Amino acid sequence: MTSTIKTTNPYSGKQLETYQLDSPADLDKKLQLADKTFRTWKDDDIEDRVALFKKLADQLFQEKKSLSELMTNEMGKPISESHAEIEKCIFLIDFYIKNAEKFLRDDIIETDASESFISYDPMGCVLAVMPWNFPFWQVLRFAVPTLAAGNVALLKHASNVTGCALAIERLFTEAGFPKGCFQTLITDHNAIEDIIGNDIVKAVSLTGSDKAGRKIAELAGKHLKPSLLELGGNNACIILEDADLDKHIDTIVKARMQNSGQSCIAAKRFIVVDKIYEEFIDKFKSKVENLKYGNPLEEDTKMSCLAREDLAETLADQVQKSVKLGAKVLVGNKQDAAYFAPTILTEVTSDMPVFKEETFGPVAAVIKVKSEDEAYKMAALSKFGLGTMVFTANVEAASKRISEIEDGAFFINEMVKSDPRLPFGGTKISGYGRELSKEGMLAFVNKKTVYIN
Ligand code: NDP
Repeated sequence: MTSTIKTTNPYSGKQLETYQLDSPADLDKKLQLADKTFRTWKDDDIEDRVALFKKLADQLFQEKKSLSELMTNEMGKPISESHAEIEKCIFLIDFYIKNAEKFLRDDIIETDASESFISYDPMGCVLAVMPWNFPFWQVLRFAVPTLAAGNVALLKHASNVTGCALAIERLFTEAGFPKGCFQTLITDHNAIEDIIGNDIVKAVSLTGSDKAGRKIAELAGKHLKPSLLELGGNNACIILEDADLDKHIDTIVKARMQNSGQSCIAAKRFIVVDKIYEEFIDKFKSKVENLKYGNPLEEDTKMSCLAREDLAETLADQVQKSVKLGAKVLVGNKQDAAYFAPTILTEVTSDMPVFKEETFGPVAAVIKVKSEDEAYKMAALSKFGLGTMVFTANVEAASKRISEIEDGAFFINEMVKSDPRLPFGGTKISGYGRELSKEGMLAFVNKKTVYIN
């Protein structure tokens, strides 16, 4: 077992930093501190907690440039998208500053009692296991509502973004949050079972692959602790024959290619009705071919390398296997270390890896269908259930499909995206539980029934 984590810039291949893993004694100290801090933090007035979040937002704003560079250096995100990620975190904090008190207010329910209501009490210390693809957003999306509700948090971040993990901990400390409210654990998988099993930890939240999800759910089940899982996705993007492609093509390209294709809610399967197929292919190909690839630190770079070389290798393997089964490469399919070229595959069928599995990079699988009915059926043919999007001029007809969509989200004439005001989460092997909105705030609270006679 190694006792360090080394981070590497995936674009240059250069090593960045070496971090020492926390020893068992370090981890225990952090757990004890979390427990101690919770005892007072939970009783603080919500207004006092909210005031600290204002400071956190200010700091993110002031340090936007350096935090964005850190993110880009560690996982290769184009710098303009890193800036946008920090801005979105500020928007998230602002949303909970405005709504936390309202969301946590007792819910009065009339019964035979003289008074009865639901009281939303914090659970205690919540462990978060987080991924590298949105290193700030994924963590803050969990931490802001969870801490505002009176819990404390421990973060085990993806090892390749350890610098971001430590920066987030520093930001909480410098904003004035009591020591122990938010702590980063520098550790590997081996320590996770003991941490989940520790009595101090009351619940666990994971964003990551379904493989990691199954492991965390197993451990949470073994120790009878609640878990929330945000896992991978294989979203369908349906293009119907009446879609206004001139209006929507940029959104459709962004739906697949943002964050160099590394997003769980990205459009991965493009299901196109044959009457609009040629027009779609022409417009989509031309836009994808013109995406500017380059150094992620340059402002006008739209696409860059993936976060790690093994991710590009996995993607190349999925594409190669699909091509063997009959998929045609329209553009792309070139790999060099962590770089994978934006790729469009046509003639994709449901038995191919690019249809069945999540592709975590810039690969668009295009499937031609004869009718609207066939398009929706094909879209539903997935083990994943994060979201479905459809582009059409007939919003009324699309709205009639709402109840047949089994996913966590259905977007009409827009890409599936997260918004602090709306719940976010999946069905099937994309996980369970909801983040963001009031739902996210109530994810880690004890919904206590109070009955006064
Ligand atoms: P992982 O799911 O392996 O990593 C996500 C987080 O889970 C990391 O913190 C990782 O830690 C941790 N983790 C993984 N396995 C375990 C375990 N057994 N016990 C405890 N913690 C664990 O994602 P990868 O980095 O391997 O990416 C591979 C695939 O995951 C992608 O191709 C994509 O399909 C999916 N993914 C989905 C994301 C989403 O937003 N839904 C985000 C990222 C990935 P460590 O870094 O130490 O391994």
